[in-house]
Amino acid sequence: MNIENQTKSILIDGVWRDIEERTETIYNPATLEPITKVAYGGRQEADEAIQAAAKAIPSWSEMTGRERSGILYKASELMNEDAERLGEILTLEQGKPLSEAIGEVKGAAAFLLWYAEEASRGYGEWIPPSNKSKRLLVIPKPIGVVGAITPWNFPSSMITRKIAPALAAGCTVVLKPAPETPLSAIEIMKILQRAGLPDGVVNLVTGDAEEIGKAMLENKDVRLITFTGSTAVGKYLMQESAKHVKKLSLELGGHAPSIVFEDADIEKAATLVLGSKFRNNGQTCICTNRLYVHESIAEAFTTKLTEKVNELKIGSGLEEDTQLGPLINKKAAEKVHAHLEDAVNKGAEVVCGGAPWDGDLKGYFYEPTILSNVTNDMMIMSEETFGPIIPIQTFNDEDDVIRAANDSDYGLAAYIFTENTNRAIRTSEKLDYGIVGVNDVFPATPEAPFGGIKQSGIGKEGGHHGMSEFLEEKFVSIGID
Ligand code: ADP
Repeated sequence: MNIENQTKSILIDGVWRDIEERTETIYNPATLEPITKVAYGGRQEADEAIQAAAKAIPSWSEMTGRERSGILYKASELMNEDAERLGEILTLEQGKPLSEAIGEVKGAAAFLLWYAEEASRGYGEWIPPSNKSKRLLVIPKPIGVVGAITPWNFPSSMITRKIAPALAAGCTVVLKPAPETPLSAIEIMKILQRAGLPDGVVNLVTGDAEEIGKAMLENKDVRLITFTGSTAVGKYLMQESAKHVKKLSLELGGHAPSIVFEDADIEKAATLVLGSKFRNNGQTCICTNRLYVHESIAEAFTTKLTEKVNELKIGSGLEEDTQLGPLINKKAAEKVHAHLEDAVNKGAEVVCGGAPWDGDLKGYFYEPTILSNVTNDMMIMSEETFGPIIPIQTFNDEDDVIRAANDSDYGLAAYIFTENTNRAIRTSEKLDYGIVGVNDVFPATPEAPFGGIKQSGIGKEGGHHGMSEFLEEKFVSIGID
């Protein structure tokens, strides 16, 4: 792959820029080799980008939904056509296996497609009046300029999941991608430009997170901030948004429990748990963070899962057959190891794995790990690990395990594995989570609402629910003779 050693990474009002004296180097997390340098933008660039987005609002929002739809359709097509190359760029900057990266790019294109379809369906309401001489209308209006802040774990789909519904609704956007993974963001901007998106409708600013964030928070023109990332930054944005009463949509951390009941299909459940935990090397906010297995099947299930974990191939995501890539950076690797050491010091048993991977690549790789004898006082049982460790606890009572699963400040995703429909319905209703997967660990899809409760966030992404985040309801009351 031929990437220049400096990439223009700031897009304002349709014009690409770099900043020669302020750059940031992007590294391949598998090898720790530099890939390219991008601009390290700050307050000035963010303010200009917001201004461009505000200027673009009238013409973009006044277009018909059908007209906006055409551009999103085209962008989705272009993205699918280029999925292999985009996947390679994604793997290069993020590390995940190429097959997962290409899958993510196609998933990102699917968000553009879904919201291309939704763009012409921003229905309002006609309310039957209680007074004969009135007519009551509810008109959905685009909220205005949107500030979008995205994370590194899904550098492509997290962007289209936010900007596709925003654009469909008639909003304009300033995007700040994660510092680790700006290259996928740059590619998405180029696709939107090629699809015919007018200048200024989407703007991209890479650089100083705090400064760009401040511009979004302090500028009154930004009416909504949509953010995916840590709960700590989400709380900060929420607090600061109070000054101008900005709307927020937050996808924050998770600590997903997976429950394997005694009536589960053991082979199927083990394969699903494997997928849930080790996709993207455990760096997914909805991935299993704690596993509860009924004691009557615990031995058989753990044996099966261990066999599968031992077969996982670690390596560079660009090598064929790799299933586990590197962790994103040193900080991530240190956190994973701290969770392991804390658990072992408090009595956990290492069933397999349990150490940084001793391979021939320089990146931060970690052995896929299973822990048993796990107790609730271990960090791993309440804090997000974001890495390839599964702690297993056993249970023998349905009510007890639901109580344990719900005992968390987070409320993003939970999973249950059972072949008993009554149990599936009963327990999915009792779990305090925004998303419940029943024999399904990949619930994210463009047509359905994805989002957490409690400290996992506010608002939904996906489905018609995702577009309504970007619309405000205007009530028009008409007196008639
Ligand atoms: P992580 O630790 O997993 O990177 P963060 O919440 O720090 O999670 O990052 C998610 C996104 O939020 C990234 O794009 C990051 O640059 C951005 N971010 C971090 N701090 C701030 C901040 N103070 N203001 C605005 N954005 C921020």
